[in-house]
Amino acid sequence: YGKLYVVPTPIGNLEDITLRAIKVLKEVELILAEDTRKTGILLKHLEIQKQVFSHHSFNEHKTSKSIVERLLSGNTIALVSDAGTPVISDPGFFLVRECLENGINVECLPGPTAFVPALVNSGLPADRFTFEGFLPHKKGRSKRIEGLKEEDRTMVFYESPFRLVKTLEQLKEAFGSERRASVSRELSKLYEENVQGTLEELVTYFSSKTVKGEIVLVVEGCKN
Ligand code: SAM
Repeated sequence: YGKLYVVPTPIGNLEDITLRAIKVLKEVELILAEDTRKTGILLKHLEIQKQVFSHHSFNEHKTSKSIVERLLSGNTIALVSDAGTPVISDPGFFLVRECLENGINVECLPGPTAFVPALVNSGLPADRFTFEGFLPHKKGRSKRIEGLKEEDRTMVFYESPFRLVKTLEQLKEAFGSERRASVSRELSKLYEENVQGTLEELVTYFSSKTVKGEIVLVVEGCKN
């Protein structure tokens, strides 16, 4: 059988790619990408010329079957996403599971992902934490937040700049204004910003400006 390599790619700074990731991308027969154009830019930068197929959340169920067939016939394939580690709030889960069910070797390389630097920069306890990914936009949103009221581990959320203030306000409502949190914006990029404060302070700070860029929100766990 072949092998599926899950390959993390930079979340901003193009220098954040490991030597092994470059080696694997050079050696595989085929690369599966969420957005072939975005991955094309990275490959060009790395001077890698390789066949890139599209594999995104909308076609994951369908394409996984034919990929598994290729792997069974001995191909080695790399899965990448637009940024960071595939499967982490990105497509790939279904493919990994299909591979394992078919006895195909899967290897995820260690590498960039946004929640680790955000968690470390937050200064909040990182010995135990829960990764919450994106909160639901509408349906199930309040229920999810309510369900976290008693969570005593540090919580990590992915958030869009357009929804940040609304989320901070809702978390403030649910957890209280004195709960501490940290917002990491544009990690590894030119305008990286890490702001710590109470939910109240963060609401005030981010309401006063136009929020741009990519965001990870880290919130202290419940203390009692
Ligand atoms: N697979 C990625 C990972 O391993 O982190 C996450 C993909 S998810 C679709 C994209 C979200 O990750 C963004 O909305 C943001 O919350 C977070 N993110 C990605 N890059 C980031 C960066 N440079 N700075 C802050 N957050 C980032």
